[in-house]
Amino acid sequence: MKLHNKILLGLVGGAAAGVASKLMLGQSPELMWVVDKVATPIGQVFLRMLFMIVVPLIFGSVTLGVASLGDLSRIGRIGGKAMGFFLLTTAAAATIGLTLVNAIGPGKSIAPEVRTQLLAEYAGEATARVGAGATFGVETFVNIVPRNPVDSAARGDMLGLIFFSLIFGVALTQLSKDKAQPILAVLEGLVEVVTRIIGYAMRLAPYGVAGLIFGVTVRFGAEVLQSLAMYVVTVLAGLALQLFGVTGLLARFLAGIPYGTFFSKCRSLMVTAFSTSSSNASLPENIRTAEEQFGVPREIASFVLPLGATMNMNGTALFEGMTVLFLAQVFGVELSLTSQIIVVVMSVITAIGAAGVPGGSIPLLVLILETVGVPGEGIALILGVDRILDMSRTVPNVMGDQLTAVVIARSEGATLKLAD
Ligand code: ASP
Repeated sequence: MKLHNKILLGLVGGAAAGVASKLMLGQSPELMWVVDKVATPIGQVFLRMLFMIVVPLIFGSVTLGVASLGDLSRIGRIGGKAMGFFLLTTAAAATIGLTLVNAIGPGKSIAPEVRTQLLAEYAGEATARVGAGATFGVETFVNIVPRNPVDSAARGDMLGLIFFSLIFGVALTQLSKDKAQPILAVLEGLVEVVTRIIGYAMRLAPYGVAGLIFGVTVRFGAEVLQSLAMYVVTVLAGLALQLFGVTGLLARFLAGIPYGTFFSKCRSLMVTAFSTSSSNASLPENIRTAEEQFGVPREIASFVLPLGATMNMNGTALFEGMTVLFLAQVFGVELSLTSQIIVVVMSVITAIGAAGVPGGSIPLLVLILETVGVPGEGIALILGVDRILDMSRTVPNVMGDQLTAVVIARSEGATLKLAD
């Protein structure tokens, strides 16, 4: 059986097994033992294998990508196109989100007692997240320049690591050929090795994905889902619109990739994003998909995709915009058109700033809520369903990166592989 089918089977099998065992056993100690001691550890090993390679992958591929692009004007042109595309698609996503919530009004259907109950139930977790709050200002930009790239990498600050790798790559292009060559050879070797390790990690994927999804389905409380059904359905509809409307159609019209082919070639990528809930953990598979499935030139894939994993989060912006407006509706805060425009702009900025890890956008969501006068603790209301929304929004996040890579490759004159 092909690997991508096995991964899909892992997803469906894990979810079915999770739902069935929960129905039969409830959240009994025995079942929770299986979740904690078997399913989650298997999932964690897969997740950690992916996270383990992110730092060497980003350093190796971004540096090599920039160095292979050669001249500064080409680096600037591709970087500029990528940033422009990220901003446009993210802003479109946030606008779709706000429009849908305005039209459907899911917050108006929440009964006051449900609100009180959820606020009480998730208050502790919410306070912890609010406490971990993010700030936004000049220092946000200053912090992109790392004091110590090793420390940035260790803290998971990917933007710092990318900045260092970019500068390293640019400097490399300015060395004489004999000086640059040995370093390039080492970097090429490094990327080859990392690619092998990605292959190993993906062989684990069917089991890892099954373990992760099994844990999620068993732990998930259907009661919370019921009371927030309208909100969840509205967010999922928005994400689907972004993915199958905006992203799929742009791939068709800007990169010439037939609609079905685009999604079919990205099957493993989408399942990886969904089950890991992390753009960073999906980066290895994202690069592999761009190169192997679509024939995106390595220097473009390895430059654009790490940037995308860190900065381009369409699904996250959509989710943030929707959630702010939803909570405003629940708390009866009237948001004027100006405030809604502020929400769109801040959703775009914070989606750029959010870390590509599970729940990476929550601290930034609090920041937007407080800016427009909705209580930050209000996130308590949605924390119970965030896991499923997080998994779902990560899919358009990574697909938006893949889209950017294929569109830029095409615009740079590359011939894409279109056959399935
Ligand atoms: N989990 C998302 C990602 O990695 C970030 C978020 O929206 O929390 O893309």
